[in-house]
Amino acid sequence: MTTIAVFGHKKPDTDAIVSAIVMTYWLNQQGIDAKSYRLDDINQETKFLIELAKVRLPELLTHLEPAQPAALVDHNESQQSVVNLADARICYLVDHHKLGDLTTTEPAYIRFEPVGSTSTILYHMFMEKNLLISQQMATLIAGAIISDTLNLTGPTTTDSDKQALQAVIHLAGIHDTNSFANQLFDAKSNISDLTDDALVTTDYKQFIFSNKKWAIASIETVKPDVVLARIEGIQQASELIRQRDGLDYMLVIIVDILKHQSWAVSSNDAQNEIIAQAFNTRLNDKLLDLGHLVSRKKQFVPTLEAFYAQ
Ligand code: MN
Ligand code: MN
Repeated sequence: MTTIAVFGHKKPDTDAIVSAIVMTYWLNQQGIDAKSYRLDDINQETKFLIELAKVRLPELLTHLEPAQPAALVDHNESQQSVVNLADARICYLVDHHKLGDLTTTEPAYIRFEPVGSTSTILYHMFMEKNLLISQQMATLIAGAIISDTLNLTGPTTTDSDKQALQAVIHLAGIHDTNSFANQLFDAKSNISDLTDDALVTTDYKQFIFSNKKWAIASIETVKPDVVLARIEGIQQASELIRQRDGLDYMLVIIVDILKHQSWAVSSNDAQNEIIAQAFNTRLNDKLLDLGHLVSRKKQFVPTLEAFYAQ
């Protein structure tokens, strides 16, 4: 039997990497041959967590072999996936995003739950099969739930996430959840080594809204001042990325994950006008205040979809 390639989305966040590792472990525990991969470099938060849990970083996957069995986690839209996804034989899909354009060539194990992280769904999958979660895996799951739900404070948080986090924190032997969360957020907010391009594309996803190609980059931080100090570099990098990736619009949002505030970075007039209308805000110097919105999947994307549906 061929090995199943398990991977999360491009420009991986912590949940994308953790889900791939943990899903692989879930398959392996059942005697199914699988190997985890990543589609891009990892961010500082993920690096911190991987080192803390003492697990190996998944290898880089550039393309799939023809008809290679694949397990997709934490995404289901083709433009966020491996370049030749169409060649794959998708046999597993575990996700917590809206259903996108994906299709399969044969029946697959498909699992969607509207919860705060894919890792929460994986926790449920371990429980249902009575499979053991090791301390290493528990540490990873805990980090991913905290990362995706902003330590259970974000709008995507559900009771399932709270219960799963409580259970894995115990299994991981973590004594102080808040201090663990702060370590993760501090690691994520350390941007000093990042170029402007990397700062913008570390958490970057493309979407099609009414035939317009958008990218939405989210810069989550506990130190918004440090990000704001680089706003001109961010604007220049954004315009270059917009041209390079053939985008109609390139939206960069700075999210203060402690105060739950966000700002869209000013772009060209046409884009600023759309953001002002869609989010009922206005341009102030180089920013458009988005108030208390923090979640791309639950707030930024639906707001733009609603704008185009008018
Ligand atoms: Mn993700
Ligand atoms: Mn996720």
